[in-house]
Amino acid sequence: MCAVLLRQKDGYHYLQSELLNQYGIRHFFSTIKHDGLERPVNFGFHYGETREEILSHYRIAGEILGEPVERMVKSTQIHEAIVRDVEEADCGKGILRESDIENADGLICGENHIPLVIFSADCTPVLLADKKNRAVCAVHAGWRGTVQKIAKNAVEKMYREYGIPKEDILCAIGPCISKCCFEVSAEVAEEFEKLFPMESFAEKKENGKYHIDLKGVNREILLREGVPEKNMDVSNDCTFCREELFYSFRRQGKEAGRMAAFIVR
Ligand SMILES: [Zn+2]
Repeated sequence: MCAVLLRQKDGYHYLQSELLNQYGIRHFFSTIKHDGLERPVNFGFHYGETREEILSHYRIAGEILGEPVERMVKSTQIHEAIVRDVEEADCGKGILRESDIENADGLICGENHIPLVIFSADCTPVLLADKKNRAVCAVHAGWRGTVQKIAKNAVEKMYREYGIPKEDILCAIGPCISKCCFEVSAEVAEEFEKLFPMESFAEKKENGKYHIDLKGVNREILLREGVPEKNMDVSNDCTFCREELFYSFRRQGKEAGRMAAFIVR
């Protein structure tokens, strides 16, 4: 069995999927932990650090990926289910360039050397690739994006527009707020019920609220889309529980910075 495991490079701690590594897919999920830095590693702009400090974190990411920060691309995430194509002309958008990829919670790219970046701080990061390295895709699936099935949109796009057989699609689901801590109202739980029966993904608590397994729901959506179970790697980590490693919006509120997930063809 593969797993999403903690690794370290020059004092920086990050997570990688063994499965994606087996296929040589360059990727990682960030943590906040760097042994050589006093402050937590943050990839979100506007969280109290200077632009130069934040860019220094992207340079660390660049060393892990083997790509310079100038090539990285990020979108404005809006908790919807749109997946947009990224190409050479987009390099630097959202990070070194003022312009952004607008309103997209998923990015997909069939070209080489363009790292895709998505943010999260409790939401589920989903990285997709394929066995022959034809395209890579990064998805931000918060609860809204999850119930709007952004994971399904990503698979459909890989299949229809990039010609990737679904049985070749690989997927790594990163750390997010997990069932232990992700408590929602009955109204939100109802939105999940519309997807499929929730017996194994939702649990009603004594206070009338529900605990939802966001990683499990996204995994199930991918399975139902035809991604084989053996092609999936799922992190065990809860962002709320592990404060030494992760930001959590639920735990920290507006103080929370942003983690990032990266993938590059
Ligand atoms: Zn937890």
